[in-house]
Amino acid sequence: MEKINWLAEVEKRKEKIINETQDFLRIASVLDESTANIEAPFGMGVAQALAHLLQKGEQYDFFVKNVDGYAGIIEHGSGKESVGILCHLDVVPPGGGWTSPPFSADIRDGRIYARGAIDNKGPTMAAFFALLIVKELNLSLHKRVRMILGTDEESNWRCVEHYFKHEEMPTIGFAPDADFPIIHAEKGITDVSFLWETKIDDEGSPLVLSTFEAGERFNMVPELARATIKGESRLLANLEKNFQAYLLEQGHTGEANLKADQLVLSYDGVSAHGSTPENGVNAGVYLALFLAKETYQQAANDYLKFVVANCDFDGKGLHLAVSDEVSGPLTLNAGLFQFHETGERKVGLNIRYPVTASGEDCINRLKEVAKNQKAVLTIHDHMKPNYVEEDHPLIQTLQQVYKRQMNEEPKLLAIGGGTYARALKTGVAFGPMFPGRVDVAHKKDEYIEIDDLLKMTAIYAEAIYELAKTDS
Ligand SMILES: [Zn+2]
Repeated sequence: MEKINWLAEVEKRKEKIINETQDFLRIASVLDESTANIEAPFGMGVAQALAHLLQKGEQYDFFVKNVDGYAGIIEHGSGKESVGILCHLDVVPPGGGWTSPPFSADIRDGRIYARGAIDNKGPTMAAFFALLIVKELNLSLHKRVRMILGTDEESNWRCVEHYFKHEEMPTIGFAPDADFPIIHAEKGITDVSFLWETKIDDEGSPLVLSTFEAGERFNMVPELARATIKGESRLLANLEKNFQAYLLEQGHTGEANLKADQLVLSYDGVSAHGSTPENGVNAGVYLALFLAKETYQQAANDYLKFVVANCDFDGKGLHLAVSDEVSGPLTLNAGLFQFHETGERKVGLNIRYPVTASGEDCINRLKEVAKNQKAVLTIHDHMKPNYVEEDHPLIQTLQQVYKRQMNEEPKLLAIGGGTYARALKTGVAFGPMFPGRVDVAHKKDEYIEIDDLLKMTAIYAEAIYELAKTDS
């Protein structure tokens, strides 16, 4: 068979691809519970985007199906096995400050500007036209190729949850919702909290820690911590002096406010994503380290001791530290601290463990710690790692395709974050962001480079063909 020039096939359809992508981007598919109903569980905008794309699919003679308003299917070919392409049609709210209206899909300097342009409606259209090219070239396939259109990726993944309850899991697949070349390893992620509720009598300690708070989310490094200490003014004045010295020593900033019998301390940290706690300055941990130099009531002493011993960012304190060659070390972010003299004491952790480590071992170890500490352990969320080995045919094929079209060695990426590919049993994130591109997802003036849109369409078309042409 004659060699296919995929990019040339894309160029032939260039105007159509650009126009249809703009049309699709003009639908404001933001989650809107206020217009939700049984047929449109995520509101009218999302439902309209789903109906729009399914109608396009029908127009080009694909098999299409609306899965109860939660997801959609656009499918081509026949065969027992299938290749899945997992995309999402929902977008995050646009926010303000846009140069042109966020749903106008204006073209400037070779870019289409719109909310959803790169995340994920542009790449969804690339995958759609990729599938159409494969279909129009009448290439023989041994697997079905199924686009799975999710509609709740930006919020709660209720779309894929519903979808996989009622529909088949593809044999292999990819999600064009992160980075090129290929993300084949994503760490396991769990959010847990330790909670102490038991009242401990204040035995008349000269200093009392009244409150201690830091952080808002498990997966962010707290950038501000605050503590209120009560006691004799002489002791508080001394503590204030030590605090100023501690700030200097650490090279950080903060504030101390002394009023009669109360000292309020605040500590400035540097926020960072929970997957890279080492890039931040955890205000909660630093303030706890300072406070732990003094003695307070028993509950405070126990709490501070726990924080100081267990909130390092590699999990050594909790005996969780583990590492592998593919995805690196376990990371721990202490994202939430709440201590109230007369109420609850809580520490919230975001833990990301390597792909070959056991999530169960990790959870069991945390349970053991909770038991020893007489704390209540809550597992708020647990996503198992996503990992497809280097020598898997899926990886090999995608690498060959990428290398052929980009003339670039396709490095495999391992990350601590989570991508949509996790929803697939054997799936990886494959694009749409090319190396070196600025990440504009979720930001104002989000755009997709038209050249990138066309290039990724060609890559996806070849990938679809290569993955589907043989039985695996
Ligand atoms: Zn996305």
